[in-house]
Amino acid sequence: MIAFADIPYARPDLEDFKRRFRDALERLTDGESAAAQDVAIAEINSLRISFDSLLTLVSIRHTVDTRDTFYKAEQDFMDEAGPVVEGLESEFFSAIVASPFRTALEASWGVQLFRLAELKMRCFSPEVLEDLQAENRLMSEYDALKAGAEIEFAGAKRNLAQVAAFAESKDRDVRKAATQAVSGFYAANAGEFERIYDELVRLRHGIASKLGFANFTELAYARLGRSDYGATEVAAYRDQVLAEVVPVAAGLRKRQAERLGLENLEFCDEGLEFQSGNATPKGDAAWLLEQGKGLYRELSPETAEFFSMMTERGLLDLETRPGKASGGYCDYLGSWEAPFIFSNWNGTSGDVDVLTHEVGHAFQAWRSRGFRAPDYFFPTYEACEIHSMSMEFLAWPWMDRIFGEDEAKYKLSHLSAGILFVPYGVAVDEFQHRVYERPEASPSERRAMWREIERKYLPWRDYGDDGFLASGAFWFRQGHIFQDPFYYIDYTLAQVCAWDFWRRSLADREAAFRAYLALCDLGGSRSFTELCRASGLRVPFEKGALRDIMQPLRDWLAAAEDRGF
Ligand code: ZN
Repeated sequence: MIAFADIPYARPDLEDFKRRFRDALERLTDGESAAAQDVAIAEINSLRISFDSLLTLVSIRHTVDTRDTFYKAEQDFMDEAGPVVEGLESEFFSAIVASPFRTALEASWGVQLFRLAELKMRCFSPEVLEDLQAENRLMSEYDALKAGAEIEFAGAKRNLAQVAAFAESKDRDVRKAATQAVSGFYAANAGEFERIYDELVRLRHGIASKLGFANFTELAYARLGRSDYGATEVAAYRDQVLAEVVPVAAGLRKRQAERLGLENLEFCDEGLEFQSGNATPKGDAAWLLEQGKGLYRELSPETAEFFSMMTERGLLDLETRPGKASGGYCDYLGSWEAPFIFSNWNGTSGDVDVLTHEVGHAFQAWRSRGFRAPDYFFPTYEACEIHSMSMEFLAWPWMDRIFGEDEAKYKLSHLSAGILFVPYGVAVDEFQHRVYERPEASPSERRAMWREIERKYLPWRDYGDDGFLASGAFWFRQGHIFQDPFYYIDYTLAQVCAWDFWRRSLADREAAFRAYLALCDLGGSRSFTELCRASGLRVPFEKGALRDIMQPLRDWLAAAEDRGF
């Protein structure tokens, strides 16, 4: 299997690609038997895999070094070419949905492909092609704005991730200064962030109208391939979060304030959980990677084989560097059966989360490499995050090696982070529902919406003397709001499922891992709720689900000793 560095890239000949795609498409629509159509579908799917792999390769090589002019130009090319190929795919989806042999084809390819096809068909028409290209350009502008951040802090020019590491400092003045420095960057660029978002919202509303949707929210759900739930289920789920998770989260913030000996826990204190400092991995990046190798070697034969493949082929780019795009992700190159993990390690406990979280994604993609439809390499996002977030918990038995005497602190912190995150996640979700309900709202009205929602789900949040953040501007830093609309609640849904796996792993680690493996092997061949049911997980939308899932967490937290931390 080829190493990442040796994967060849040449710009695809778009005209030739279109010709071959159309030719296969013609044989699909003219096919007079299920067997003939089946062959044409297989051909189209391999064309899709080859194009998508090149597009992903460009995106990876661009984010690894945003200053590389060659891949910057290729990224620009792909920003324009992507929607053209999506147009062809839309024709493909129309053809399979309309097939007289649909039942036979569903038996061969799975029902889920046809559900996804029906949703995707609704998301595209040639009429919106230029709008989609404009949407891509605006999203790239957001990336460029953040990646270009050069903040003078503690005697050096630093990027956002590097300054954010100081916000976990034990020294209150340092973390306050780091928090202000990050906030200052967003305040200085507030006009740009609001312009980009305003243009995106109006553009997206226009696209939704042209495609016959009442508003962008419905289009976004279809884009995300949500075939088994809608805004109503999600709203009811947010209510469960408000009732079951927000009080536990508020209790955790109270405990944190007590540990730190603070009367008021301000925003700049939130990053420091323990007076004695946050849990940190007990070694440098190279050491941490070695720990990862040991963990996956011992967890199971399947993870052992997988992780040595990843390291041998150079499919991990972990450490932060100037010019690297911010954030972390896992992507998959189908043509070369290569998952790829990207992150910005900065010496904090977040580095370990990459080693478990992104590896969970990569492991699932690797286990699903045998599917012939690219649509099944990953499931829809909320299900995707189950593999990653559950791997964080399946890795718990090895955390003593990584964190040494900080092990108990790490576990408390990890569990707390999820509980504190879920209310924030649903706030981001509710915000977007409200934004797209009123696309004509002004930037200041949007800030007011955010502030109101933030007060409901994060009642402890206190920005101190930071008037900019108190004006409702925190969401500027949440890239998903700009680049992946409505993809955020997914993390919270998956978190709830991961807690369910955690609960099971406490009772029987081996059985929990086998159920996890089965879930990974199903890839994206089923819908979210079907995947939950197939692996014995509670469906988070169901009434009472959160109450039941939260109970073991409450018990664990009540027994956790943190006074010494
Ligand atoms: Zn993830």
